[in-house]
Amino acid sequence: MIIVLKKDAAQDVIDHVVEKIKGTGLAVHISKGKERTIIGAIGDESLLSSIQLDALPGVENVMPILKPYKLVSREFRKEGTVIELGGIKIGDRDVMVIAGPCSVENKDSLIDTARKVQASGAKILRGGAFKPRTSPYDFQGLGFDGLKLLSEARKATGLPIISELMDPRDTETFCEYVDIVQIGARNMQNFRLLTEVGKIKKPVLLKRGLSATIKEFLMSAEYIAAQGNSQIILCERGIRTFETATRNTLDLSAVPVLKEETHLPVFVDPSHAVGRWALVAPLAKAAVAVGADGLMIEVHPDPENALCDGAQSLKPSKFAGLMEEVNKVAESIGRRI
Ligand code: PEP
Ligand code: MN
Repeated sequence: MIIVLKKDAAQDVIDHVVEKIKGTGLAVHISKGKERTIIGAIGDESLLSSIQLDALPGVENVMPILKPYKLVSREFRKEGTVIELGGIKIGDRDVMVIAGPCSVENKDSLIDTARKVQASGAKILRGGAFKPRTSPYDFQGLGFDGLKLLSEARKATGLPIISELMDPRDTETFCEYVDIVQIGARNMQNFRLLTEVGKIKKPVLLKRGLSATIKEFLMSAEYIAAQGNSQIILCERGIRTFETATRNTLDLSAVPVLKEETHLPVFVDPSHAVGRWALVAPLAKAAVAVGADGLMIEVHPDPENALCDGAQSLKPSKFAGLMEEVNKVAESIGRRI
């Protein structure tokens, strides 16, 4: 149920409504907008019949949330969520670009790549330390040593860092190192993991599962939000279809659909979608044209010798060109990189 409070309702009025709802045993989630506070009462709504919600002081409107995803739905929050991280704003006017290698390999190449992507306008550095590889014989990442190298790169450049968390037991350590926790496509429905990152105070970038519908994607985001963490970034990264010309099929229509359905920022990762570096720039431009709030792009100084995903990685010089082209598209729709 959504309880919309009157414009500029005072704190004691809000507290009273919250206490009443909590008294019924339902969970309360508060969303403070510019003018109004909205309260989400989540759980068995029949319990609310014991209180007369619309008669409580400060309450303007009481409405059911019809979608199965509650807290992440646009019904619950009309304004887009803006996540502030250091000096940057995710989900605001500027298109945010996350760039870096698929996996962290060594300090020099990571810092060199970080400096180059930063010079081209990337605002967040990516790098996998724990890699979800299809084969157990492939490079699995440097583990915690990779996270340490990422934090050295942050120190050298000031760029916030993002890396993928695969094991719920590593959550606390991850939070010591990274600024954004990534949940990969293969773990989109790892509900224990989602519940753990729902309890942290850092943004979470949730990738769409390989064969997940948009509804399933949003239900996974709801797992995170239900634990109290509303700093969630959704990332479309291509889905499995019958098409084999590209690694996956980038579902660009997911972007405007998600923007309609949810208030969360929506990113696109064209690198993992197409699997071929030459296709990354055209799809990055298309993603921004259809309304993506950000991009995630793999960049490697020497893709031929990359330990992971070299075929889809852009050299820093090619990435610089992509950023210029993407910026033109962004400017044409009143945004910028
Ligand atoms: C990644 O970003 O490193 C990754 C493995 O992506 P995905 O989970 O989308 O496959
Ligand atoms: Mn990769």
